[in-house]
Amino acid sequence: MSAAVVPAALHLLLFPQAAPPSGGAEGPLTGDALPVPVALDNAFWFRAGVDYLAVEDPSHAEGTAQAVALARTCFDRRFGVAPLAGAVMATGLAGLFEELPLERQGWVLPWRFNRSEPETPEAHASSLRHELGHTFLLNTLLPNLRKGQYGGDAPDWLDEAAGVAMESTASRDDRRRRFGALVADGRLTPFTRFVVQAHPVFASQRLQTEIARARAAASNQAIVLEFTLSELGVTGSSPDDFYAQTGAVIDFLDTLGDAGLLGRISRDIADSGEAAGWLERLGPDVGLPRPDDWDEAFAAWSTRAPPTATAGRDCDGEPETGEA
Ligand SMILES: [Zn+2]
Repeated sequence: MSAAVVPAALHLLLFPQAAPPSGGAEGPLTGDALPVPVALDNAFWFRAGVDYLAVEDPSHAEGTAQAVALARTCFDRRFGVAPLAGAVMATGLAGLFEELPLERQGWVLPWRFNRSEPETPEAHASSLRHELGHTFLLNTLLPNLRKGQYGGDAPDWLDEAAGVAMESTASRDDRRRRFGALVADGRLTPFTRFVVQAHPVFASQRLQTEIARARAAASNQAIVLEFTLSELGVTGSSPDDFYAQTGAVIDFLDTLGDAGLLGRISRDIADSGEAAGWLERLGPDVGLPRPDDWDEAFAAWSTRAPPTATAGRDCDGEPETGEA
């Protein structure tokens, strides 16, 4: 049904295990998505707001600049922090990262612009925003200081939430439909279990082996790894279910009346080093003081959740209207 949800390949970024550069992005967020060409070397460089793009085909610049600007705005709104200034770079150009002005080296997202499988420009932009969400979370609130795994210190659901929350409404609605089917099938994972569960893809032994090997070979730079799910031995519906329930958790949190909840959860995890202590520390503020309350409220919400977006909180949806 929702083939668009099924990732044909896994696009993984490995970052050095050091703390990212500190400091904020320069200047206000302008929302200016018009790419400005910049002569830094022979690649096609563009300046897009505070960020940079390096592309092999200049026709990719405008859509990419718009995706970066939108992801920035959405991330700031959801997590309450502006990402550092950074760069989206075609994978073949990622080695040019150090050509960037130092204050623009907050993050780099190597990106494959020419995909083997056909997809619409909208779906491509949504995927790029998803990856930017991961990158922004890693480079702002939850850098990779403790876990030493591919991503940052965020629990897997939160890492994915940063990505899924940046996606298009079309993609979010695919996940909502899948979630509806999952609930109907009785496959809902209790809330308190889901928020400490390993991503089914990252749980792959093959993937962990490949990550360790890539890290050993290049410990000081960002690396791009790509696999198909079958290469990782991941089959069945478990990855799609994980993304679907992640999207549902975002929607559920949106009903609790605290628009900055994902940011507060992230800060609690960063400060405490605990994956799930926020359930009891933040729960009283949203009327869910005990972990059991989260399980019960989420299960009850799941049975009546609408299959498609209604709240207007999607990244490319209507502006917030102050819903409950
Ligand atoms: Zn992701």
